[in-house]
Amino acid sequence: MLGAPGAGKGTQAKRVAQAQGQPHISTGDIFRDHLQRDTALGKQVRLYLESGRLVPDTLVCEVVADRITEGDCADGYVLDGFPRSLPQAEALDQRLEGQGEQVAVAINLEVPDDEIIERLTARRHCPECGAIYNTKFRPPRRPGFCDKDQDVALVQRSDDKEQTIRERLRIYHETTKPILAFYEKKGVLRSVPGTGLSPDEVFANIEDVLSGLGVAKVS
Ligand code: AMP
Repeated sequence: MLGAPGAGKGTQAKRVAQAQGQPHISTGDIFRDHLQRDTALGKQVRLYLESGRLVPDTLVCEVVADRITEGDCADGYVLDGFPRSLPQAEALDQRLEGQGEQVAVAINLEVPDDEIIERLTARRHCPECGAIYNTKFRPPRRPGFCDKDQDVALVQRSDDKEQTIRERLRIYHETTKPILAFYEKKGVLRSVPGTGLSPDEVFANIEDVLSGLGVAKVS
């Protein structure tokens, strides 16, 4: 699942993974988990995450390589937030090729920058269950609290402050966007508009893409 930060990758990737019965692998979630548990990896990536910069390719690729060799990935998986640079896309490709596998589809969620900034400054999540809300577009039933874990106060990601968002967008355009051409060349890129539509409508469009490609496992 490709797209700028805040394009809705996390929300859509989770839904696709659920529909496909495949694990959802978010490198951002993996790093945040390590940060919270203050592991050795957490210490290594803290500064990158806090400043909105990309974690070095070799480190990210190692984390992903470890994760995709776990048993639950044998039947495919949904990557969210990876790859984010050309070297990462190439490393993934090489690794998959070595196993006789390939990326089935790269879905690009298209959202303009000004909407990204508006969305991300209003993004909140539940630290318990990970549910994502938006104070403007998808508010929780009780302001400030999770719908599921009703006593848990929602929090804002530390990298969702406007200055950090602008830096993340700059990096996205400079470093991440070139991978769209990489997947386009391979014939697996599919762009889906991620703006002006509800998350359900975006998901319906993604499902259409997956069925059209014969990738969907569950109709
Ligand atoms: P995300 O939740 O996907 O927005 O990721 C949060 C942060 O984790 C990013 O701003 C980066 O600092 C780091 N990160 C996540 N995935 C990657 C990746 N594939 N390459 C480099 N850094 C990453």
